Order: sequence, then structure tokens, then C-alpha cells
Amino acid sequence: MLRPPIASSRCRPDASGGDAAWITDLQNRFFDVRSAMDYVGFDADELSWVEERPRYQFCLNVAVADRMRSLLEGGRRGDFEAIARIYFPDRRELSAAARRFPRTGIGEEQAALADNVYQFYPDRVLLRINGFCASLCRYCFVRHKVSGSGSTVGRAAFDDMVEKLRGRPGVRDLILSGGDPLLLSDSWMRYVLERVDEVPSLRVVRFDTKVPNTLPSRITDELVLALSQLEQTTAYVNIHFSHVAELDASVERAARKLRRAGCVLGAHIPLLRGVNDSPSQLRSLCQALLEIGVRPYMLLQYIPTDGADHWRVPVEEGQAIIDEVWGSVSGLAVPHYVAYLPHGEGKALLTPNHLEGEGIRSKRGTVFPLT
Ligand code: SF4
Repeated sequence: MLRPPIASSRCRPDASGGDAAWITDLQNRFFDVRSAMDYVGFDADELSWVEERPRYQFCLNVAVADRMRSLLEGGRRGDFEAIARIYFPDRRELSAAARRFPRTGIGEEQAALADNVYQFYPDRVLLRINGFCASLCRYCFVRHKVSGSGSTVGRAAFDDMVEKLRGRPGVRDLILSGGDPLLLSDSWMRYVLERVDEVPSLRVVRFDTKVPNTLPSRITDELVLALSQLEQTTAYVNIHFSHVAELDASVERAARKLRRAGCVLGAHIPLLRGVNDSPSQLRSLCQALLEIGVRPYMLLQYIPTDGADHWRVPVEEGQAIIDEVWGSVSGLAVPHYVAYLPHGEGKALLTPNHLEGEGIRSKRGTVFPLT
């Protein structure tokens, strides 16, 4: 039996002056597993891995649930399961093996300049401007931060951060992250962009977001207008994707609108066991992304996360996957394979090494001398 989604007043954005349609879509989210399963139309007996009482909060919006429904109705069971695994809690989350990691994440404490403001590199600052997401991903290393009450950075704290940036002329790149920065209200977003555009040293404003994928209705004309009015900074929108079945017509439309606003689009792809851990799955996703104008930017190695170790693909396996994708598709479609380092030390490249002795090995296995 299908039940309507449960509207919740939690995690509600400031709707003042905004376009109400996407806010309604956002509020129509499920916070209990059983209702979401009924809505999507799948049966717990068929998918015995689902844990109905998640240890961490559960949150799924209707845009993603509808995508799962259409995969089920279209008989694409494999694709359906890959997407379902991203959002539905898995019994393995509760196993001792999955829970051996503390919540250390990437060492944000060491990189913190102030609450929600981090500097991992001299020329970049990251601001967690928003404390919630449109849906929660089970592997997320910040899920304990983004599954709560949904607080956003207030105006005073934001203004304070802007002043800090003015005092750091070496910072050229501001990364807006979260939670999801594209869930700010239109009026708040306009203010943020105007202030950021005034900082003399800033040339790039980046959005780390999953919203064009999980809530494409949020890519409204108002948002596009605000983004297109940046004068001094270029907007880069790095969108989180995991599987080719996420790329339906609504996502493609959202990507086109963002490109028309002058945004440069990239993809962050977490390497996930059971979702994209084969060359063919990764290749299909990267090719499809390239075709809709989203350049695969980074393939992200699993970040040790409490309750999520079943997602981990070993680095050697990840290297073999990216090595096989390389050369079988355009280089534009091959992401950098990277790992986050602990203690606030940023990221490291995991590019496969083709050097052999004094030479370099080709795709066909021939070793050529390095000149
Ligand atoms: S959208 Fe990003 S920040 Fe939000 S739960 Fe998923 S991975 Fe975490």
C-alpha cells in the first residue's frame, strides 16, 4: 500500500521571499523508514538488508523516492537497489565492524578558523553555511552534523566570516558546503552571493551540493538569476552523484539551468561498495555526466565513518577501477581519484602509478623509456 509522504516542520528553510514550490517539495520528506518503503513500493521481505530502526536519522525526499519508484516500475531492479542503498539504512550499520571508527572525519577541528569555518589550504576557505540536506546518505561522514535540527549559519556569523576573509588576501576560493548550501532561501542566498562578490581577493565561489540531484526543483529561476549576477567571482557547482540512474530528465534540466547561469559544473563521486564499484558502472556514470555538461571532478575514497564501513572499497581496487576507466572514455570523463587525509591535511591523489623502472607502461602493457 502506498502512503503519502509525511510533511515535517523540522529542517525547514526560511521561506521568506522565496519560491514556494521547492520548499513544499523539501518539506515532503519521509523521516521513518516504513512509510518511505511503502511509498516507494518495495517490500522489506525482498530486501532483507534494510534496517527499519536506523541508528542515525533517516531522511528521504519525494524527488528521490519517485526516482526509485520509477526504477522499480520500469523493472530496473539492479539500478533501484543501488539507489535504495544510498538512502535506506542497512543492518550492517549496527555491526561491530562497521562501528569501529570514531567520528574523526577529516580533522576539521585542526583546520577550524571559527565555528563552521575551515581552512585546509592557504588559498581556500570552507564555510558550512547550512546544517541540513534534502535527503541523508547512509555513508556520509558528516551525517551526525546534518541530520539534526537544520540550523543555518546566522547573519552575524556570516558577516563576521566575510570580514575575516577581507583580512586574508591570499584566499581566492570560498567553498560553501553544509549540509547543502543550495537549500538556503532565495533572499539569504542573494545576500550571501552579494557579500561574497564584494571580497576583493575572492575569484571563485564553490558550492558542494547534492541538491541538483536530490531536489532538482530547487534550481529555480530566482536562484539562477542570483548566480548569474556574480561579477567578480565565478561560481563552480560540484554536484554529488553516485550512480547513472540518478540522472533523470529533471536532473538534466537543473544542470542546464545552472550552466546557463554561467556556473561551471563538476561532480563529486564517492566510491561506494555495491553502487559504483566496477569499471562499467563508473564509466556509465562519468560518460552520462559529461553528456549533460557536468565534468566528473573527483572520485572520493571512503572516509572512515562510524557505522559505514560496509561502503569501503580498498584503495588498490579503486585504482584498478579508475585505471580501467582511463583510456576507455574521454579524459574529460575521468575524475581525479583522491582520499581525504585526517588532521585537516586536505586530500591526496590516488592516481595509479604507470612508472616501471626507468620506463612508463602503456595501457597495452608495453614499457616505453621515459625521455
Ligand atoms: S548530501 Fe552530502 S552532506 Fe548531505 S548527507 Fe549526503 S553526503 Fe552528507
